[in-house]
Amino acid sequence: MDLTFSERETAFRDELRSWLADNPPDPKPADGGEEAQLAWRLDWQRRLYEGGWAAPHWPVEYGGRGVTPTESAIYFEEIGRARAPMAANILGVLLGGPTLMVWGTQEQKDRYLSPILSGEEIWCQGFSEPDAGSDLASLKTRAVKRGDEWVVTGQKVWTSGAQYSKWCMLVARTDSDAPKHKGLTYFLMDMQQDAVQVRPLRQITGEAEFNELFIEDATIPDTNVVGDVGNGWNVALTTLMNERAGIGFASQIRLRQLLDDLIVVAAERGLMEDPLYADALAELHMRCESIRLLAWKGLTDVERYGQPGPEGSLVKWLWSDTNQRVTQLAADIVGPQALIGGTGWSYELLRARGNTIEGGTTEVLKNIVAERVLGLPRLKVAA
Ligand SMILES: Cc1cc2nc3c(=O)[nH]c(=O)nc-3n(C[C@H](O)[C@H](O)[C@H](O)COP(=O)(O)OP(=O)(O)OC[C@H]3O[C@@H](n4cnc5c(N)ncnc54)[C@H](O)[C@@H]3O)c2cc1C
Repeated sequence: MDLTFSERETAFRDELRSWLADNPPDPKPADGGEEAQLAWRLDWQRRLYEGGWAAPHWPVEYGGRGVTPTESAIYFEEIGRARAPMAANILGVLLGGPTLMVWGTQEQKDRYLSPILSGEEIWCQGFSEPDAGSDLASLKTRAVKRGDEWVVTGQKVWTSGAQYSKWCMLVARTDSDAPKHKGLTYFLMDMQQDAVQVRPLRQITGEAEFNELFIEDATIPDTNVVGDVGNGWNVALTTLMNERAGIGFASQIRLRQLLDDLIVVAAERGLMEDPLYADALAELHMRCESIRLLAWKGLTDVERYGQPGPEGSLVKWLWSDTNQRVTQLAADIVGPQALIGGTGWSYELLRARGNTIEGGTTEVLKNIVAERVLGLPRLKVAA
């Protein structure tokens, strides 16, 4: 991939920079807890939408700008540089929308895509269950056809943002007799029904970002099946590949900023003269650069095949590992303040713990890289 920007790409970057200069994101709210954070992220999404910047990578017909993968990468870098928050409906924009564009019917695209962009309807991802995380295909939530609707019963867990979501990307078992990957169907489930109960799970950071979902006889109209009955595994893979590539790309920019902030603190404390800290920071700098280049390289897949490839797993794996290293080094550099609950650094240190689990654990990503990127033989597990 050629990383020199063309005239068009430079013009795109300058237009965005000038919009961001005129419309800077508000600073992160210091008080008000999770509600204030959500309001901040919703407001930012609305402003992006009104300015036509909510998802430039989406096709023009669905409210995007139809930009190239390179321009899309420029977009994420500039938004990151402006220290903007993650848009409130990030799962809808990066995962749900692109999945519907591949598998959805025209009616589904017309109905759902626009409110995703405006943030009017927030989306969550109902994949994981108490006994089905890495081995997603063993999930047990069942959907049974009754007339022209489906009746769903089961439990989901770790569902991020479910407490304020309107739609859930739900994978459920619709055929118990079929092989486990073949008996699944992908639905859009309305979260606003009594049959879906959301119970928050409080994390080590103190916030309840994710939830348990208890689903008892929830109904989903047949028109909300995405990509045909029994084809849920393939549709879910599209969502997961977009998750690893899209969130991976945005996250590596955030990682760079965190490291830059840490370098500033280290310099203020005179620690850059200390070879131990200087070495550790230099190593993290090199890691960040290689992750950035790998993330850019991943764009060539999108250019070639129209969809992210398995290489996105490599970026996600390296990002999560490096983010944990940066936040651990921060605890040494910043000192006790990094360990005091409620500071930015303590939040980063604690939140980074989940990075190697969410969106696919590091072990599972390593398997994907080994088998699907490097072409190594599948691991044979001893009986
Ligand atoms: C912050 C956060 C947000 C999340 N948000 C969502 C969400 O919005 N929606 C959603 O559906 N899920 C979400 N998850 C769940 C996440 O996708 C799962 O936690 C993850 O897939 C792992 O599943 P599990 O927790 O069941 O662990 P398990 O799959 O039980 O894994 C346990 C351990 O075994 C290892 N392991 C498992 N299989 C293999 C294998 N084949 N080879 C080698 N090692 C293996 C794992 O790496 C891990 O160390 C979130 C998780 C976190 C931490």
